[in-house]
Amino acid sequence: MLKKMVFLGTGGTIAGTAVEASDNVGYTAAQLGVGQLLQAIPRLQQALGAHAFLAEQVVQVDSKDMGWSQWRVLAERLQHHLAQSDVHSIVVTHGTDTLEETAFFLSRVLSKKLLALKSVVLTCAMRPASSLAPDGPQNVLDAVAVACSAQAHGVLVVCAGTVHSAHDVQKIHPYRLNAFDSGDAGPLAYVEEGQVRWLHACPGVDASAADFPQVALGKDPWPRVEIITSYAGATGATVRALCAESAVQGIVVAGTGNGTIHQDLELALSEAQARGVRVVRSTRCAYGSVVVGAAAGAFQDSQGLPPVKARIALMLELMA
Ligand code: ASP
Repeated sequence: MLKKMVFLGTGGTIAGTAVEASDNVGYTAAQLGVGQLLQAIPRLQQALGAHAFLAEQVVQVDSKDMGWSQWRVLAERLQHHLAQSDVHSIVVTHGTDTLEETAFFLSRVLSKKLLALKSVVLTCAMRPASSLAPDGPQNVLDAVAVACSAQAHGVLVVCAGTVHSAHDVQKIHPYRLNAFDSGDAGPLAYVEEGQVRWLHACPGVDASAADFPQVALGKDPWPRVEIITSYAGATGATVRALCAESAVQGIVVAGTGNGTIHQDLELALSEAQARGVRVVRSTRCAYGSVVVGAAAGAFQDSQGLPPVKARIALMLELMA
Protein backbone atom coordinates (compact mmCIF):
# COMPACT_ATOMS: atom_id res chain seq x y z
CA MET A 1 0.00 0.00 0.00
CA LEU A 2 1.25 3.50 -0.83
CA LYS A 3 1.89 5.17 2.52
CA LYS A 4 1.05 8.79 3.18
CA MET A 5 3.08 11.45 4.92
CA VAL A 6 0.81 13.95 6.65
CA PHE A 7 1.83 17.60 7.16
CA LEU A 8 -0.03 19.54 9.83
CA GLY A 9 0.41 23.32 9.94
CA THR A 10 0.13 25.33 13.14
CA GLY A 11 1.72 28.67 12.13
CA GLY A 12 4.94 30.12 13.58
CA THR A 13 7.79 32.01 11.96
CA ILE A 14 8.13 29.26 9.37
CA ALA A 15 4.80 30.56 8.04
CA GLY A 16 5.65 34.22 8.73
CA THR A 17 6.15 37.12 6.34
CA ALA A 18 7.85 40.51 6.57
CA VAL A 19 7.50 43.58 4.33
CA GLU A 20 11.26 43.56 3.59
CA ALA A 21 13.06 40.36 2.62
CA SER A 22 16.05 41.53 4.65
CA ASP A 23 13.97 41.78 7.84
CA ASN A 24 14.32 38.64 9.97
CA VAL A 25 12.79 40.03 13.14
CA GLY A 26 10.05 42.53 12.21
CA TYR A 27 7.76 39.96 10.60
CA THR A 28 4.31 38.63 11.37
CA ALA A 29 4.23 34.93 12.21
CA ALA A 30 1.55 32.52 10.97
CA GLN A 31 0.63 34.14 7.64
CA LEU A 32 1.03 31.33 5.10
CA GLY A 33 -0.79 28.03 5.04
CA VAL A 34 1.13 24.77 5.27
CA GLY A 35 0.10 23.95 1.67
CA GLN A 36 1.77 27.18 0.45
CA LEU A 37 4.92 26.35 2.43
CA LEU A 38 5.15 22.90 0.88
CA GLN A 39 4.62 24.25 -2.65
CA ALA A 40 7.68 26.46 -2.21
CA ILE A 41 9.99 23.46 -1.54
CA PRO A 42 11.21 22.21 -4.92
CA ARG A 43 12.78 18.92 -3.80
CA LEU A 44 9.93 17.90 -1.53
CA GLN A 45 8.52 15.06 -3.67
CA GLN A 46 12.02 13.69 -4.15
CA ALA A 47 12.55 13.72 -0.37
CA LEU A 48 9.23 11.97 0.16
CA GLY A 49 10.25 9.15 -2.18
CA ALA A 50 7.29 6.86 -2.81
CA HIS A 51 5.11 8.53 -0.19
CA ALA A 52 2.06 10.52 -1.14
CA PHE A 53 1.34 13.50 1.05
CA LEU A 54 -1.56 15.28 2.63
CA ALA A 55 -1.45 18.79 4.12
CA GLU A 56 -3.86 20.11 6.72
CA GLN A 57 -3.92 23.47 8.49
CA VAL A 58 -4.82 22.65 12.08
CA VAL A 59 -4.41 26.09 13.66
CA GLN A 60 -2.65 29.29 12.55
CA VAL A 61 -0.88 30.92 15.48
CA ASP A 62 2.33 32.60 16.59
CA SER A 63 3.43 29.91 19.02
CA LYS A 64 4.02 32.45 21.78
CA ASP A 65 0.20 32.47 21.89
CA MET A 66 -0.18 28.69 21.92
CA GLY A 67 -2.83 27.57 24.38
CA TRP A 68 -5.08 24.71 25.42
CA SER A 69 -7.60 25.14 22.62
CA GLN A 70 -4.87 24.80 19.97
CA TRP A 71 -3.24 21.86 21.78
CA ARG A 72 -6.56 20.09 22.07
CA VAL A 73 -7.29 20.29 18.33
CA LEU A 74 -3.69 19.42 17.39
CA ALA A 75 -3.71 16.33 19.62
CA GLU A 76 -7.08 15.29 18.19
CA ARG A 77 -5.93 15.62 14.54
CA LEU A 78 -2.65 13.83 15.25
CA GLN A 79 -4.45 11.01 16.98
CA HIS A 80 -6.81 10.73 14.01
CA HIS A 81 -4.06 10.62 11.37
CA LEU A 82 -1.74 8.34 13.36
CA ALA A 83 -4.56 5.81 13.64
CA GLN A 84 -4.91 5.53 9.82
CA SER A 85 -3.17 2.43 8.52
CA ASP A 86 -2.05 4.23 5.33
CA VAL A 87 -0.28 7.03 7.27
CA HIS A 88 3.45 6.49 7.64
CA SER A 89 4.36 9.46 9.85
CA ILE A 90 3.46 13.09 10.48
CA VAL A 91 5.40 16.34 10.15
CA VAL A 92 4.10 19.33 12.13
CA THR A 93 5.20 22.88 11.30
CA HIS A 94 5.28 25.00 14.47
CA GLY A 95 6.71 28.22 15.92
CA THR A 96 9.93 27.90 17.84
CA ASP A 97 8.87 29.75 21.01
CA THR A 98 6.80 26.99 22.59
CA LEU A 99 7.93 24.11 20.38
CA GLU A 100 9.47 22.18 23.26
CA GLU A 101 6.25 22.48 25.25
CA THR A 102 4.05 21.23 22.42
CA ALA A 103 6.46 18.36 21.69
CA PHE A 104 6.49 17.30 25.33
CA PHE A 105 2.72 17.64 25.66
CA LEU A 106 2.16 15.48 22.56
CA SER A 107 4.63 12.86 23.74
CA ARG A 108 2.50 12.50 26.89
CA VAL A 109 -1.00 12.48 25.41
CA LEU A 110 -0.79 10.66 22.06
CA SER A 111 -1.42 6.92 21.88
CA LYS A 112 1.69 5.03 22.98
CA LYS A 113 0.89 2.08 20.73
CA LEU A 114 0.91 4.40 17.72
CA LEU A 115 3.98 6.40 18.83
CA ALA A 116 5.92 3.15 19.27
CA LEU A 117 5.43 2.53 15.54
CA LYS A 118 5.21 5.96 13.93
CA SER A 119 6.85 9.33 14.33
CA VAL A 120 5.51 12.84 14.82
CA VAL A 121 8.27 15.21 13.72
CA LEU A 122 7.91 18.87 14.69
CA THR A 123 9.86 21.43 12.72
CA CYS A 124 10.10 25.20 12.60
CA ALA A 125 12.16 28.15 11.38
CA MET A 126 13.98 31.07 12.91
CA ARG A 127 13.53 33.22 9.81
CA PRO A 128 10.22 34.04 8.12
CA ALA A 129 9.26 32.50 4.79
CA SER A 130 9.82 35.91 3.13
CA SER A 131 13.47 36.05 4.22
CA LEU A 132 16.37 36.38 1.75
CA ALA A 133 17.59 33.05 3.08
CA PRO A 134 14.75 31.28 4.90
CA ASP A 135 15.64 28.21 6.98
CA GLY A 136 12.14 26.74 6.95
CA PRO A 137 12.32 24.83 3.63
CA GLN A 138 15.52 23.01 4.61
CA ASN A 139 14.10 22.24 8.06
CA VAL A 140 11.00 20.73 6.43
CA LEU A 141 13.15 18.61 4.11
CA ASP A 142 15.20 17.46 7.11
CA ALA A 143 12.01 16.66 9.04
CA VAL A 144 10.80 14.58 6.08
CA ALA A 145 14.10 12.66 6.03
CA VAL A 146 13.65 11.89 9.73
CA ALA A 147 9.98 10.97 9.34
CA CYS A 148 10.93 8.57 6.50
CA SER A 149 13.71 6.95 8.54
CA ALA A 150 12.99 3.41 9.72
CA GLN A 151 14.59 4.20 13.09
CA ALA A 152 12.29 7.12 13.88
CA HIS A 153 9.40 6.81 16.29
CA GLY A 154 7.77 8.90 18.97
CA VAL A 155 7.70 12.69 19.08
CA LEU A 156 10.85 14.31 17.68
CA VAL A 157 11.99 17.86 16.91
CA VAL A 158 14.11 18.82 13.90
CA CYS A 159 15.83 22.18 13.55
CA ALA A 160 19.06 23.21 11.79
CA GLY A 161 19.93 19.65 10.77
CA THR A 162 19.70 18.39 14.33
CA VAL A 163 17.20 15.90 15.76
CA HIS A 164 16.07 16.16 19.39
CA SER A 165 13.77 14.16 21.62
CA ALA A 166 10.61 15.78 22.98
CA HIS A 167 11.88 15.08 26.49
CA ASP A 168 15.23 16.87 26.19
CA VAL A 169 14.77 19.63 23.63
CA GLN A 170 14.90 23.26 24.75
CA LYS A 171 15.03 26.53 22.84
CA ILE A 172 18.26 28.10 23.99
CA HIS A 173 18.80 31.00 21.61
CA PRO A 174 16.47 33.84 20.57
CA TYR A 175 18.01 34.50 17.15
CA ARG A 176 20.49 32.02 15.73
CA LEU A 177 19.27 29.37 13.28
CA ASN A 178 20.48 26.53 15.48
CA ALA A 179 18.24 27.64 18.35
CA PHE A 180 17.67 24.29 20.05
CA ASP A 181 19.69 22.08 22.31
CA SER A 182 19.20 18.81 24.16
CA GLY A 183 21.33 19.69 27.18
CA ASP A 184 23.33 16.90 28.78
CA ALA A 185 21.48 14.26 26.72
CA GLY A 186 22.78 15.66 23.42
CA PRO A 187 20.98 15.36 20.08
CA LEU A 188 19.59 12.07 18.76
CA ALA A 189 20.82 12.54 15.18
CA TYR A 190 22.03 14.89 12.49
CA VAL A 191 20.51 15.23 9.02
CA GLU A 192 23.12 15.62 6.30
CA GLU A 193 22.05 15.97 2.64
CA GLY A 194 18.88 14.03 3.28
CA GLN A 195 20.62 11.25 5.22
CA VAL A 196 19.89 10.81 8.92
CA ARG A 197 22.98 9.97 10.97
CA TRP A 198 21.64 8.52 14.20
CA LEU A 199 23.81 8.97 17.28
CA HIS A 200 21.32 7.42 19.69
CA ALA A 201 18.16 5.36 19.33
CA CYS A 202 14.90 7.28 19.74
CA PRO A 203 13.72 7.03 23.37
CA GLY A 204 11.64 3.89 23.78
CA VAL A 205 7.87 4.24 23.91
CA ASP A 206 6.21 1.65 26.15
CA ALA A 207 3.35 0.48 23.93
CA SER A 208 1.82 -1.48 26.80
CA ALA A 209 1.63 1.54 29.16
CA ALA A 210 -1.76 3.08 29.78
CA ASP A 211 -2.63 5.93 27.43
CA PHE A 212 -3.54 9.38 28.68
CA PRO A 213 -7.37 9.45 28.91
CA GLN A 214 -8.38 11.42 25.80
CA VAL A 215 -11.66 12.39 27.41
CA ALA A 216 -9.69 14.44 29.98
CA LEU A 217 -8.45 16.72 27.17
CA GLY A 218 -12.05 17.72 26.52
CA LYS A 219 -12.51 19.12 30.02
CA ASP A 220 -12.67 22.89 30.44
CA PRO A 221 -10.81 24.67 31.89
CA TRP A 222 -7.57 22.73 32.12
CA PRO A 223 -5.98 22.83 35.60
CA ARG A 224 -4.20 26.06 36.43
CA VAL A 225 -0.53 25.44 37.15
CA GLU A 226 1.80 28.43 37.40
CA ILE A 227 5.60 28.76 37.31
CA ILE A 228 7.34 30.89 39.94
CA THR A 229 11.07 31.65 39.83
CA SER A 230 13.32 31.97 42.88
CA TYR A 231 15.97 34.71 42.76
CA ALA A 232 17.85 37.11 45.03
CA GLY A 233 15.24 39.11 46.91
CA ALA A 234 12.36 36.76 45.98
CA THR A 235 9.28 37.02 48.23
CA GLY A 236 6.16 34.96 48.79
CA ALA A 237 3.86 37.71 47.49
CA THR A 238 3.04 36.14 44.10
CA VAL A 239 2.36 32.72 45.62
CA ARG A 240 0.08 34.25 48.27
CA ALA A 241 -1.77 36.27 45.60
CA LEU A 242 -2.26 33.11 43.50
CA CYS A 243 -3.59 31.22 46.49
CA ALA A 244 -5.92 34.08 47.40
CA GLU A 245 -7.51 33.71 43.94
CA SER A 246 -8.05 30.05 44.90
CA ALA A 247 -7.98 28.98 41.21
CA VAL A 248 -4.39 27.77 41.23
CA GLN A 249 -4.03 24.01 41.58
CA GLY A 250 -0.30 23.66 41.17
CA ILE A 251 2.91 25.69 41.30
CA VAL A 252 6.21 24.74 39.74
CA VAL A 253 9.09 26.57 41.34
CA ALA A 254 12.13 27.22 39.16
CA GLY A 255 14.67 27.14 41.95
CA THR A 256 18.18 28.51 41.97
CA GLY A 257 21.01 26.00 41.41
CA ASN A 258 20.07 22.54 42.68
CA GLY A 259 16.45 23.57 43.18
CA THR A 260 17.10 25.82 46.18
CA ILE A 261 14.44 28.40 47.03
CA HIS A 262 14.66 31.78 48.79
CA GLN A 263 13.43 31.29 52.37
CA ASP A 264 10.61 33.85 52.04
CA LEU A 265 9.30 32.19 48.87
CA GLU A 266 9.77 28.75 50.42
CA LEU A 267 7.59 29.71 53.39
CA ALA A 268 4.77 30.84 51.09
CA LEU A 269 5.09 27.64 49.03
CA SER A 270 4.86 25.54 52.21
CA GLU A 271 1.69 27.43 53.17
CA ALA A 272 0.28 26.84 49.68
CA GLN A 273 1.10 23.13 49.85
CA ALA A 274 -0.59 22.89 53.27
CA ARG A 275 -3.72 24.33 51.62
CA GLY A 276 -3.70 21.58 48.99
CA VAL A 277 -1.81 23.30 46.14
CA ARG A 278 0.62 20.86 44.47
CA VAL A 279 4.17 22.24 44.55
CA VAL A 280 6.91 20.85 42.29
CA ARG A 281 10.56 21.90 42.53
CA SER A 282 12.68 22.30 39.40
CA THR A 283 15.74 24.37 38.59
CA ARG A 284 16.21 27.52 36.55
CA CYS A 285 19.62 26.19 35.41
CA ALA A 286 19.63 25.58 31.66
CA TYR A 287 21.55 22.31 31.92
CA GLY A 288 21.17 19.32 34.24
CA SER A 289 18.35 18.63 36.65
CA VAL A 290 17.81 18.74 40.40
CA VAL A 291 19.90 16.08 42.13
CA VAL A 292 17.81 14.76 45.00
CA GLY A 293 19.71 13.82 48.17
CA ALA A 294 18.98 11.00 50.60
CA ALA A 295 16.49 13.06 52.64
CA ALA A 296 13.12 13.73 51.02
CA GLY A 297 12.67 17.46 50.40
CA ALA A 298 9.59 19.41 51.42
CA PHE A 299 8.45 19.59 47.79
CA GLN A 300 8.13 16.93 45.10
CA ASP A 301 10.99 17.19 42.58
CA SER A 302 10.36 17.58 38.87
CA GLN A 303 11.85 14.21 37.87
CA GLY A 304 14.50 15.87 35.75
CA LEU A 305 12.08 18.12 33.87
CA PRO A 306 12.75 21.84 33.37
CA PRO A 307 10.04 24.20 34.69
CA VAL A 308 7.93 24.51 31.51
CA LYS A 309 7.76 20.74 31.03
CA ALA A 310 7.28 20.05 34.76
CA ARG A 311 4.27 22.36 34.54
CA ILE A 312 2.76 20.33 31.69
CA ALA A 313 3.45 17.05 33.51
CA LEU A 314 1.73 18.34 36.66
CA MET A 315 -1.18 19.73 34.68
CA LEU A 316 -1.72 16.39 32.94
CA GLU A 317 -1.45 14.55 36.24
CA LEU A 318 -4.13 16.80 37.72
CA MET A 319 -6.33 16.30 34.63
CA ALA A 320 -6.06 12.54 34.50
N1 ASP B 1 7.18 33.81 17.74
C1 ASP B 1 7.46 32.80 16.75
C2 ASP B 1 6.64 31.57 17.09
O1 ASP B 1 6.98 30.92 18.02
C3 ASP B 1 8.91 32.49 16.74
C4 ASP B 1 9.35 31.40 15.81
O2 ASP B 1 8.57 30.61 15.28
O3 ASP B 1 10.58 31.31 15.61
O4 ASP B 1 5.67 31.30 16.42
